[in-house]
Amino acid sequence: MSIETLPPLRDIVAQHELVAKKRHGQNFLFDFNVLKKIVRFSGAAKQDTVVEIGPGPGGLTRALFLEGYQNIIVIEKDPQFLDVLRDIQAVAPLQIVMQDALTVDFSQLGQGPRHIIANLPYNISTPLLTRFLNAKGDIASITVLLQKEVSERMAAGHGSKVYGRLSILAQALCDVALGPIVSGQAFVPPPKVTSQVIRLIPKPTDVCVKTLQHVTAVAFQARRKMIQSTLMKALPLTPEDLEALNLTPSHRPEQIPVSTFVALAQLLQPRLHLGNLCLP
Ligand code: SAM
Repeated sequence: MSIETLPPLRDIVAQHELVAKKRHGQNFLFDFNVLKKIVRFSGAAKQDTVVEIGPGPGGLTRALFLEGYQNIIVIEKDPQFLDVLRDIQAVAPLQIVMQDALTVDFSQLGQGPRHIIANLPYNISTPLLTRFLNAKGDIASITVLLQKEVSERMAAGHGSKVYGRLSILAQALCDVALGPIVSGQAFVPPPKVTSQVIRLIPKPTDVCVKTLQHVTAVAFQARRKMIQSTLMKALPLTPEDLEALNLTPSHRPEQIPVSTFVALAQLLQPRLHLGNLCLP
């Protein structure tokens, strides 16, 4: 037996009587065309370590091996998948970690550079992404399937209707790229929403995340209001500061680029006392 000759995923699910549990956000992908597209979009080099969160019945894991990756670690918290993952391990060099991904120290897994790939349950996407971004240099890239609206918001540029706090935080910390769209029908069972792959490549930055969160929260409380009645009232900003940032009092938050919000946060950081939760 080899990776190529393992039984189809549908048969594996039936044979092992695997059940898609709603509480663990389980929606499986069986189509290897879709799975391989996700793997290719990650752009990870074949010799790098790939950490897959939530392999379930192993579709994405098998697609990784089929695409030539050899250093693969899976983290799964539901024990019903252990036997299936061991069947993959019998034919390929797979490292299995049966643990909640929210408690894993990623810097201890394999050799760097480490790439994260996942068809994530939506309920753990935000805490996991936050952990990955805080892991700084330990993570080379993160390729995940998210609800399409969330991926779009993360990748949106200023001027877009969906540009907002999530876009600014994601793009201040990472290079963001949108990947393949995956319809709900591709999943078993099918969720009501459409998904889209997004790739985040963490980049070095010295912006204080806490300050950026604060500034964007103030700005986007009223995304269509001019900043003279929002930012300038709530934050210690002078007309000279605005000029230095190429802003005018009539700018609206949705028109301000990510780089200007970053510069604004850097300018305000010594004036606001928000603690020192800053990236190096
Ligand atoms: N990767 C498989 C696929 O694409 O068919 C399964 C994806 S399913 C949407 C999500 C998987 O994540 C499930 O296997 C679930 O048990 C697992 N999972 C959910 N929460 C987890 C957590 N906190 N840590 C590790 N795995 C988790």
